[in-house]
Amino acid sequence: MPELADRLAALRGRIAAACGEAGRNPAEVELLAVSKTFPAEAVREAYDAGQRAFGESRQQEAAPKIEVLPADIRWHFIGGLQRNKARKVLAGFCCIHSVDSLRLAEYLDRVAGEDGKRPQVYLEVNVAGEESKGGFSPGDLLGAAESLPALRHLDVRGLMAIPPEEDARRWFSRTRELRDELAARTGLSLPGLSMGMSGDFEDAVREGSTVVRVGSAIFGNRDHPL
Ligand SMILES: *Cc1c(COP(=O)(O)O)cnc(C)c1O
Repeated sequence: MPELADRLAALRGRIAAACGEAGRNPAEVELLAVSKTFPAEAVREAYDAGQRAFGESRQQEAAPKIEVLPADIRWHFIGGLQRNKARKVLAGFCCIHSVDSLRLAEYLDRVAGEDGKRPQVYLEVNVAGEESKGGFSPGDLLGAAESLPALRHLDVRGLMAIPPEEDARRWFSRTRELRDELAARTGLSLPGLSMGMSGDFEDAVREGSTVVRVGSAIFGNRDHPL
């Protein structure tokens, strides 16, 4: 397997190529390196290769990494968020991709206000209505439109989705349409689409993704799924 720095460079090349096909500017797409289950040394290696944005899915696992790694890393939270972890997540992470209900959004807004924060957030949508996955249903998402502009302590960037592998491109496209609809209903600009992982990020970019969350294609396979 090539070195981590080479894998990162190759990924950037593939993102740029997918942007080229879609007539997009590669500067519009951020590569988030998903480092969950990998040690701080692996993050350090990616950092030394120029990577600055990393994704983690558990606060307890991320905390010791955040502690020892350079302060200019932008940590993104991408996992299920329990309320009792909200304050710690707001302290360590600039961005939360997994806001899966209006109740959680309202709770985060309150805590962020108390702590003088204004994190970037993405609303996670269960775009294909899969039983096994969390997130807003498309109906609940559009139903939340009226409430979102009042959340002044959240910088709502847009939507996050983890669609089924089968027909992923169609679901990415559907996620973009939902984003457009939500933007129209809320009056918020919602420029962000967090979508695409190791196996499908090129299709996600072709459909408008602005953040691809890539783990195994950078760090290798994980021993346990998480
Ligand atoms: C683990 C994870 C990823 C990265 O998955 P890979 O297939 O390893 O690229 C992306 N997004 C979320 C929400 C994840 O939990």
